[in-house]
Amino acid sequence: MALTFDNRFARDFPSLYSAQPVQGFQQPELLLVNRDLAQQFDLDATDAELADWFGGQGALPGGAPLAQKYAGHQFGVYNPFLGDGRGLLLGEIKDNQQQFWDLHLKGAGPTPYARQGDGRAVLRSSIREFLASEALYHLGVPTTRALCLVAGELPVRREQVERGAMVTRAARSHIRFGHFEHCFHKGLQSELKALKDYVVERHWPDLADQPDKVFFERVVHKTAQMIAHWQAYGFAHGVMNTDNFSILGDTFDFGPYAFMDDYQPGLICNHSDDTGRYAFDAQPSIALWNLNCLAMALSPLIASDDLIAALKQFQPALAGHYLKLMGKRLGLAAASKDDAPLINSFLELLAGEKQDYNLAFRWLSDAEKGASKLACRDHYLDPSRFDSWAERYLQRLAADSADDATRKAVMDAVNPLYTLRNYLAQNAISASENGDHSELARLYKLLKNPFTEQLGMSDYAKRPPDWGKHLAVSCSS
Ligand code: AMP
Ligand code: MG
Repeated sequence: MALTFDNRFARDFPSLYSAQPVQGFQQPELLLVNRDLAQQFDLDATDAELADWFGGQGALPGGAPLAQKYAGHQFGVYNPFLGDGRGLLLGEIKDNQQQFWDLHLKGAGPTPYARQGDGRAVLRSSIREFLASEALYHLGVPTTRALCLVAGELPVRREQVERGAMVTRAARSHIRFGHFEHCFHKGLQSELKALKDYVVERHWPDLADQPDKVFFERVVHKTAQMIAHWQAYGFAHGVMNTDNFSILGDTFDFGPYAFMDDYQPGLICNHSDDTGRYAFDAQPSIALWNLNCLAMALSPLIASDDLIAALKQFQPALAGHYLKLMGKRLGLAAASKDDAPLINSFLELLAGEKQDYNLAFRWLSDAEKGASKLACRDHYLDPSRFDSWAERYLQRLAADSADDATRKAVMDAVNPLYTLRNYLAQNAISASENGDHSELARLYKLLKNPFTEQLGMSDYAKRPPDWGKHLAVSCSS
């Protein structure tokens, strides 16, 4: 079977893009294929075809490659000159569940929006985008996906010369907050309305007969849900510019992100983020700030009182999702607001101990009702401090309906044993840069099952070695 295309963006929004062919590699090397997603897309192709379509010279049959124009607030400053500088929307497809997806090739050569950029992406950043999006997906975090990773023969100059590569991103939509900001600031009223209708018809058909304000409320809620997942799983995005925010509330555009090792609420993963604007604990307020930008952009469609009322829903929606996720991580059958102090004091304990964030939750699943202590106390520098928190936790479990075995099963299904630690990504990148892609394949396979213990992979569940802690990641990609 072949992909089923319906390139509506190309048809309906000629003023919001430039048609642009892929400038592929002469010798594309296919490094990773997401076979599950390929199957979901009914994409039945040889590896040679995949390498050609998603990195080489061959035009994807049925595609209509184009560079989208958008704008956005970068580090708080409005930039009207943005757009796909190096990525191309290859086309819009329908999967075997009739769900729409955009296929987007990142690193496909310079476009009219490249400004001074070379239009390319390096192997390092392409590996990072592929692995992170798939790792988040398998953790249950709303995110874009990755279909293929292709490396090329082209040298690309960054701080040093690196190998060029392309990642094929599959996203339910590539419409960003920045698309609406562009339409608003340029006075493109009919495009603004049409863009909103396009998103609704494609993705939220239940809103078809609703007033426009309900669309914005949906974006607020979806964004809150995404941020709750980031905070609950210790994911720092690093570059929360409004052009990197998907209108659907999927994690979008992966740069210098980090999956937290030690719990550090103030973690700044982006080496270039001097003021900590995008620090881990600032993510909720920045998301709200971004929603304010979107509200401004939607003001020609929606009354300001309605926009303000929707924005006010963000904080309670985020708190509700977060409580639910954290309650599950702690094994509570039904967490309530009364559990917030227990959750917060656990986080304070982890921060004080510089304890590994995800492992700390995994260890808790050994708790037994009626016990006075938890075996994982030995992992703590100050076990007696842990004991005093654990006493409260055990009291709370005693009042909970779930038995020990059920609770352990539930906890192990939401608390990952394996995450995409920065140093694990770095090991795979270094090996791949030296021509050995076996570590990349191993890590990708591991991250597809983050909750299940896998044979021979115990080292991957350990805390990072000293060299692998606090690796700085730059924005250059
Ligand atoms: P990002 O930080 O990856 O979200 O990119 C911000 C903007 O810069 C987007 O408009 C990108 O398309 C553009 N951009 C980033 N890197 C390059 C590059 N190497 N060549 C051309 N445009 C780029
Ligand atoms: Mg971007």
